[in-house]
Amino acid sequence: MSMPKPIENPEVKFTKIFINNEWVDSESGKTFATINPCTGEKIADVQEGDKVDANKAVAAAKKAFELGSEWRTMDASKRGRLLNKLADLLEEDLAYAASLETLDNGKPFTMSYHVDCTGAVKELRYMAGWSDKIVGQTIPVDGDFFCYTRHEPIGVVGAIIPWNFPLYILTQKLGPILAAGCTVVVKPAEQTPLTALYLASLIKKAGFPPGVVNIVPGYGPSAGATLSEHLDVDKISFTGSTEVGQLVMQAAGRTNLKGVALECGGKSPNIVFADCDMDYAVEMSHNAQFFNMGQVCCAGSRTFVQEDIYDSFVEKSVARAKKRTIGNPFDPTTESGPQIDDIQYEKILELIESGKKEGAKLECGGGKKGDKGYFIESTVFSNVTDDMRIAKEEIFGPVQQIIKFKDIKEVIPRANKTTYGLASGVFTKDIDKALMIANAMQAGTVWVNTFLAGGGAHAPFGGYKMSGVGREQGSYGVDEYLEIKTVVVKIPQKNS
Ligand code: NAD
Repeated sequence: MSMPKPIENPEVKFTKIFINNEWVDSESGKTFATINPCTGEKIADVQEGDKVDANKAVAAAKKAFELGSEWRTMDASKRGRLLNKLADLLEEDLAYAASLETLDNGKPFTMSYHVDCTGAVKELRYMAGWSDKIVGQTIPVDGDFFCYTRHEPIGVVGAIIPWNFPLYILTQKLGPILAAGCTVVVKPAEQTPLTALYLASLIKKAGFPPGVVNIVPGYGPSAGATLSEHLDVDKISFTGSTEVGQLVMQAAGRTNLKGVALECGGKSPNIVFADCDMDYAVEMSHNAQFFNMGQVCCAGSRTFVQEDIYDSFVEKSVARAKKRTIGNPFDPTTESGPQIDDIQYEKILELIESGKKEGAKLECGGGKKGDKGYFIESTVFSNVTDDMRIAKEEIFGPVQQIIKFKDIKEVIPRANKTTYGLASGVFTKDIDKALMIANAMQAGTVWVNTFLAGGGAHAPFGGYKMSGVGREQGSYGVDEYLEIKTVVVKIPQKNS
């Protein structure tokens, strides 16, 4: 795939709060630093929005949603055109957006470009198409009545974004929110606010009316919690940890029963049967764990391997992990950059220690890489058992757990024995086994002979159990931002 050259020192042009299509400073005068995870050094100071600023943004979004407003009276097809225009503007300088993402997040530029930013453009285009295809029903109720439904935008949405796919997840929310006709206040992750603010500049340029999209960088317990508690926010769309997802849901219940869509954590099983194409399964299972430095909610973080091929699968997986290139994310040959910050870095190293202590076999890696930034060696554990912390807790790092199983009957309940249920995978040449697993997994996605595939705009994505509530993407994702209203009209006489 062709790719432009990255810009290693992209200019940071936007660091303020975006409300009503204007750039403003925080009311408190406070700023926070966004850090380069390759070095631990500051990239820029960003205005720190808190409760007061989030309240201002909600007021702007509420005003933009008023009956008769420019946004409410706009043709649905024009909403689609604005989304397409935004996609065009992003695509015009994709190398800049991808470079900014790599600088702020540390992920390899090849990935920022081909996955995050290209995916963001596709997302906006796909959702643009839905704008004028949201339709209700006419319903033959009993009596002399004309009954129809309107699928209306839910109102003001609060969108809370994590740091692992900052721009991509933002567009996964903005696309359906705007296609549905809602207005929104976005709270980007404090670790990675820069691409969201760049996108804000394009939103203004595309011609969205003031107040339709507002972006408030800041911290979770202040700016984020203000949105989940706010009486004028009608829906929260949250992606992040299960713990914070619970807080968001509690806040919604305590205040105005706003709708809540949650995309949370996972500990997804990847089941490899002895009859698979082994080299292919090794490569896919490696990618399932190490992609994005392991910072993927649906990572294949419990690799179950059938006992007949276990030893050779471990050997090949270790060889692959040792080959993985880690370093400067702007180098096109780099496969992995640093972890996002010192907190995640320490958490991952502590979990690696727990694996060693609890008796798993450390096959490779296991420590820090280099003396600058938050790099961790590609780590593989074998002899992992279901009760170990590394088999139960979300590590969110480059640490593969390879677990042995005997047969299909035994592995199904073990794979499902988790509080999470985001994704799962199976590698086998036997269609019966594949479909048995596909039906049995308590997970929002099942991949067969692949992993992490099809994660674009078209197909729904979300979790069973504590991995989430609701679905993003596809038509299901648009439904999250709609209310259904029934209208019953008395008529003189019905006719079939
Ligand atoms: P996090 O939950 O700490 O933060 C996510 C967002 O929530 C950030 O913007 C943060 O500022 C905000 N936040 C924090 N406290 C808040 C509060 N009290 N009220 C409102 N908002 C608050 O998660 P993280 O560390 O950014 O991301 C890692 C976690 O996210 C992992 O567990 C991962 O599995 C999960 N994740 C899930 C998905 C998914 O689609 N299911 C995608 C990415 C990440």
